[in-house]
Amino acid sequence: MTETKNFINGCYCDSSSGKTFDNINPCTGELIGKVHEASAKDVDRAVRAARKALYGPWGKMTDMERGAILHRVADGIEARFDEFLAAECADTGKPYKLASHIDIPRGAANFRLFADAVANFATEAFQTPTPDGQGAFNVAVRKPKGVIAVISPWNLPLLLMTWKVGPALASGNTVVVKPSEETPLTTSLLGEVMNDAGVPPGVFNVVNGFGPDSAGAFLTEHSGVDAITFTGETRTGEIIARAAAAGLRDVSLECGGKNPSLVFADCDLEKAIEGTLRSVFSNCGQVCLGTERVYVERPLFAEFVRRLAQEASNFKLGVPTDPDTDMGPLVSREHQKKVLAYYALAREEGATVVLGGGVPDVPESLANGAWVEPTIWTDLPDDARVVREEIFGPCCHIRPFDTEEEVIELANDTTYGLAAAVWTENVSRALRVSRQIDCGILWVNSWFLRDLRTPFGGTKHSGLGREGGVHSLEFYTELQNICIKV
Ligand code: NAD
Repeated sequence: MTETKNFINGCYCDSSSGKTFDNINPCTGELIGKVHEASAKDVDRAVRAARKALYGPWGKMTDMERGAILHRVADGIEARFDEFLAAECADTGKPYKLASHIDIPRGAANFRLFADAVANFATEAFQTPTPDGQGAFNVAVRKPKGVIAVISPWNLPLLLMTWKVGPALASGNTVVVKPSEETPLTTSLLGEVMNDAGVPPGVFNVVNGFGPDSAGAFLTEHSGVDAITFTGETRTGEIIARAAAAGLRDVSLECGGKNPSLVFADCDLEKAIEGTLRSVFSNCGQVCLGTERVYVERPLFAEFVRRLAQEASNFKLGVPTDPDTDMGPLVSREHQKKVLAYYALAREEGATVVLGGGVPDVPESLANGAWVEPTIWTDLPDDARVVREEIFGPCCHIRPFDTEEEVIELANDTTYGLAAAVWTENVSRALRVSRQIDCGILWVNSWFLRDLRTPFGGTKHSGLGREGGVHSLEFYTELQNICIKV
């Protein structure tokens, strides 16, 4: 049994209200442990600790000194790789095979990249003529924004949390993190790594709990927070944007998607199948960038559907530690209920169920887990809810198309605009089509090929702002212009 506490001012502490909640293993439904739920008082203490730390040694360090400490944080994650891996997979149920390649290495990389990037981040200067002929110099300097509230989701807990904490700390801010109630373990473990790396107390704080009337709302509504960075559902993003409006605080929102994949008949079929398999089913379909709508040019349609279903039917569902496991469960029984409701709705809306559509047979020991089958549908109308709403499960709808114009219109016919994939060997078509898709991140002949220096974010209901590389540093700093009259 684990006991996950809040981490405030460099120390692990119990909830001041004495309230705890259960952390459940999604594979088995068994209790992993208890989590201390931060009260409004605890959140206030964390925000005050973060404010005080801004003016302590952290605020006086050079970018290089802070960068050196953040490299030690990355070293610490790598040194305790197995602990992070076990914690992340216990919380999420995702296979070790996946988390050891993606989640944990990226957790460390997020600190390294931004520690180095901040040292190479230039600002602007202008020489300004004045009537006396002497002139003036304008120089823009970057300063930390202050106390940053980091609200993160459960699908890639360490990866997405450090994606924000890395650049926030590299820029000299202090943070209060509210991890998802479903997955508190790796964020909590990071507190120990921060202490060991020499991060001063108060620079990194963690408050556990839920959203409304709990730690999430207490934190985002706290007037001592200078900016909020959030990853999660669009609906929650809207609530957080409203909270940020009080005091005109800056907000970065990375939200949901209903991402299309456009497969042209001139694609390399093997690559398109392999990439689409990953984009639909990785992490049991719980990836914001994942594909839930696949459009295939008609001559390739039947073969594509057959091949994708055949490959997906070979997936081995199982526990994280089994090296043969391709897919784990969903994150919780509650999320399973939501995904299964969409599986039922697909039938009502007239889908042909090509693969799956239900709960798989699992051994007795896993019977209380959040398992669902990898699922493929065809024949749904374009206005079906299953085709329009984000499901966040291991499923997709595949539809044929005849022309480039048609598929561009279909791909853009959504309130979301996060990611898309285009599969074609024709480079002119790739560029022509890509530029017409309304989304923030587009891959040609690949998926989830991430370079952390590139802009990351969505259009429409998928978010507000961009993070990644220089864009993260822009969000986490305030630009001050200093004009010096000669
Ligand atoms: P969620 O919105 O339910 O929760 C995200 C976080 O917000 C959690 O920590 C939660 O406790 C907190 N929260 C909820 N209500 C709140 C409130 N009123 N005030 C303050 N905090 C609140 O999202 P989720 O279910 O954890 O994650 C899945 C969603 O995240 C999907 O929609 C997915 O597309 C999206 N997502 C987006 C990206 C991206 O980069 N665009 C990445 C991963 C996940």
